[in-house]
Amino acid sequence: MKPTKLTFINGKPTLVSYDKVVRTDNDKAYNFHRNVEESDYVKFYHSTEWKHKRQEILERDYGLCQRCGMDAELVDHIIPSKDDWNDRLNNDNLQSLCRGCHKIKTKREWMKHHKGMESYMNINIVCGLPASGKTTYVKRHMTEHDLIYDYDELMHALSGLPMQQGNHDIHDYITLFFDQLLRKLKAEQTFNNVWIIKTLPDKRIDTLLSNYHRINHIVIVADPNICEERLRERKEQISFQKILNSFKTADFTGYRVVKNG
Ligand SMILES: [Zn+2]
Repeated sequence: MKPTKLTFINGKPTLVSYDKVVRTDNDKAYNFHRNVEESDYVKFYHSTEWKHKRQEILERDYGLCQRCGMDAELVDHIIPSKDDWNDRLNNDNLQSLCRGCHKIKTKREWMKHHKGMESYMNINIVCGLPASGKTTYVKRHMTEHDLIYDYDELMHALSGLPMQQGNHDIHDYITLFFDQLLRKLKAEQTFNNVWIIKTLPDKRIDTLLSNYHRINHIVIVADPNICEERLRERKEQISFQKILNSFKTADFTGYRVVKNG
C-alpha cells in the first residue's frame, strides 16, 4: 500500500497518496472557503449570545463532562456547527465536555468525514452453535477498525458463569447495553464493521436494527458432534442438547449459511 498524508481539499481534511500535490490546485478554493467560515466562527464564538449560552449549558450540566463525568472545560456542539449552523444555539445540540473527551469526539468526527460516502459501516450478525467457529470466522473477516459485540462473552463477564449459563436478568442488561450502543453506532458510523456474535437469532436485536439497511445475517453451520467434542475438550459445562434443540427449531430465514468443518 502507498503511504498517505493528510491534506485539505476545499477546507475538508482528506487522505491522499503521499506524493500527490493537492494544495496548489486547491489553494484558491480552500482559502476562500476557510476565510468565509473562519470569520463567521470567530464572530460567533466572540458573541455575547454564545457566551451566555455557554454559561447556561455549563450550569445545566452542573459543570460536568457529559461523557466521563469529570470537570467540564468547554461546551460542544453535538452535531458540529460546521454541519448544522442553524442549530448552533439549540440547547438540545449542546453539551459540556472535558478537553480529553472533546478531543476523542473531534477525532471520530474527522474519521467519519474522511471515510466519506464510498465507505459504509456494515453490521454483521453471526449465529451458530457453541464452538462452531463463530469467533474464528469473525477474526478471519474483520478489519483493523471493527467493533465486536459477543453476547456470550458479555454474559460470561457480567454473570461470572460459564458462557452459556447466563440468566434472564443479565440478558436484559446486555440487551439494554446493546440498545445504547446501537444508538451511538447509528449516529456516528465510524467503524468499518460491527460484529454481533450470538448462538441463536434474536428478534429483539433484529427489531432494534430494523431501519439499518447494511446488515448481513450469517449462520455458521458445523457438525454438532464436533462442536460438542470441542466443548468437552475446553471443559465447558453446558447443556449442549438443550441449545442444540433450540438451534434446530430456530428461524434462520434470511441468514446466509457458512459451512464450517
Ligand atoms: Zn470527559
